[in-house]
Amino acid sequence: MHDHRRIGRDLDLFDTDPLIGSGLPYWLPDGAAVRHALEDYIRTAEQRAGYRHVYSPVLAKRELYEISGHWSHYRDDMFPPMDLGADQVVLRPSLCPHHALIYRSRGRSYRELPLRIAELGGMYRSELSGALGGLTRVRAVQLNDAHIFCAPDQVADEARAALEMIRRAYAALGITRARYRLSLPGPGGKYVAAPDLWRRATALLTEVLDRSGLPYEAVAGEAAFYGPKIDVQVADHAGRESTLSTVQVDFHQPERFGLHYTGADGAEHRPVMVHRSVIGSVERAVAHLIEQHGGAFPAWLAPTQLVVLPVSDAEQDGAAALVRRCADLGLRAATSGPERGSLGARIRAERLVPYQAVIGAREAADDLLSLRLRDGRRLGPRPAADVLTGIGAGIRAHSPELWDGAAAA
Ligand SMILES: [Zn+2]
Repeated sequence: MHDHRRIGRDLDLFDTDPLIGSGLPYWLPDGAAVRHALEDYIRTAEQRAGYRHVYSPVLAKRELYEISGHWSHYRDDMFPPMDLGADQVVLRPSLCPHHALIYRSRGRSYRELPLRIAELGGMYRSELSGALGGLTRVRAVQLNDAHIFCAPDQVADEARAALEMIRRAYAALGITRARYRLSLPGPGGKYVAAPDLWRRATALLTEVLDRSGLPYEAVAGEAAFYGPKIDVQVADHAGRESTLSTVQVDFHQPERFGLHYTGADGAEHRPVMVHRSVIGSVERAVAHLIEQHGGAFPAWLAPTQLVVLPVSDAEQDGAAALVRRCADLGLRAATSGPERGSLGARIRAERLVPYQAVIGAREAADDLLSLRLRDGRRLGPRPAADVLTGIGAGIRAHSPELWDGAAAA
């Protein structure tokens, strides 16, 4: 595996500046293109799975986190509060309390459940500066988060569906080395005390994992302070493990926030909160993708998906026109002309780009493209329209494989 910090610098994906501060990276255009494609994929997948997206503020009054339990269980990882008139406001350490308030803001009926609220939103963690570096340990996190408010008998189906979303996302992203973990409380941790609820939540997650057929390991001491969780673990280039995806069952916060819904019997009932994240923080997900692929991203994620290589100056206009055509089709394309060296040198320089289209005299005259794939395969001259249609179809399907000239499946 590669170190994402070195590749991030070499490929101009992200950087930091001492004046912004450590643990606060910024994204350069090519890195931002990867991130944008990833966020688009997640929002679309969530929308198809019945999630509704919201936006909520990145800070709130201290009282909110006292109610949620973060203030007493998680304060060491939070930024210090800011005085604002008579109030204190805090940069949020998680999105859960905001979503609980959104749920609580309206009367809820059992007919609305499961209510799936999703947000790709900011949260903050006061990591010590010694632990910071690249995109894996950051102080400002963009989290792919969602909370499913549901009846107790809906929890298992929702947790199963979330695991399935994770499995599909990993296939599209080409993430092959992931380990599933059942994270349980351990001795001495800061956990909320409610043994009965812990037992129920643990039994539910164990059943979901057992029925999924996925190999997993139960580990004590890794639970959230409010409940057990399924974590999906990946390793970085140095072998350090971290959590990318998670599914958690929470009976605690619905109680703390006094959440309820009106059941079919007309009485008030307490919903369960399922916390889930498909790709975790965008920062950590992109760091992992950089390390796993060494910068050779699946085509739908690549900053440049197609590079156009005119053989000589005579084909420069044709190359520029092709790039405009790609932009109209939603493809990210660029040219690399003879001013950048011999054709061979340009092909080597663009070796991470999934598709390279060579335009010589014949291609230019007949609107053809000769395609080279990143893995070395070559397709002879074909009508440009066919090539762009094939490449576009693979990208829209979020295929981890390169299009090789075969008709669309
Ligand atoms: Zn949550």
